[in-house]
Amino acid sequence: MSTPLLDVRNLTAAYGRAQVLFGLSLQLHPGEVVALVGRNGAGKTTTLKAVLGLVPATAARIAFKEHSLLGLPTYRIARLGLGYVPEDRRIFTDLTVEENLEVGRRSGRVGLSPWTPERLFQLFPNLAEMRGRRGNQMSGGEQQMLSIARTLMGNPAAILLDEPSEGIAPVIVQMMGEAIRTMKAQGVAVLLSEQNWAFAAGISDRACVIERGEIRFEGPMAQLLANETLRAETLGV
Ligand code: ATP
Repeated sequence: MSTPLLDVRNLTAAYGRAQVLFGLSLQLHPGEVVALVGRNGAGKTTTLKAVLGLVPATAARIAFKEHSLLGLPTYRIARLGLGYVPEDRRIFTDLTVEENLEVGRRSGRVGLSPWTPERLFQLFPNLAEMRGRRGNQMSGGEQQMLSIARTLMGNPAAILLDEPSEGIAPVIVQMMGEAIRTMKAQGVAVLLSEQNWAFAAGISDRACVIERGEIRFEGPMAQLLANETLRAETLGV
């Protein structure tokens, strides 16, 4: 296989004295969608935050495009082209859809992004109809789409998506799935933390199953789909 775009080895993290990640390793290759799945509290969010330097962590290696991320401030990590869409969708609620996208352009990597507002409106057609609307007048699902679109404006090579389907209407979840497929087709790699098993299974090439801060399974999604026992044990599905 190709050199991983994101390479995480032996990651540990703790909140105070409570250790939550225990030597976890995972890789994300260019243009692939990897699902990080696991029960509530298994450590999915902490894994994403640890990669981005948002929680104290140690690791043998965390590298993105062969640059070590260990000790780098989060804004420098973002500039290397690693995007992040947190669970709580940090859009600017007093700015319009178009203004939010402009902010995303400015905080992105230097250079021309192939993602323009017009291309993003094709990716998320319902955002096109509300380009002048402020964030605080949008539903949770619409805000989630805007949050992803804004991150794409920064021209990332990979995006860490934290539970994008949480609390969102099924029709919007379906649109999000289609958008993730298109992003992948455009070469953007996605590490998707999800509790919505059906959603993750439908769009991911590979899966990493996390259980109590450790990787229990890593392999093609088809293998996990075929392994009912493991799914029942680790995901309850
Ligand atoms: P969820 O789907 O609930 O977000 P998760 O798999 O993303 O679950 P994490 O949010 O990474 O799990 O949480 C892993 C463990 O760390 C849990 O036991 C959680 O209670 C604990 N934890 C998370 N954030 C903190 C914090 N800020 N302080 C202390 N403990 C925390």
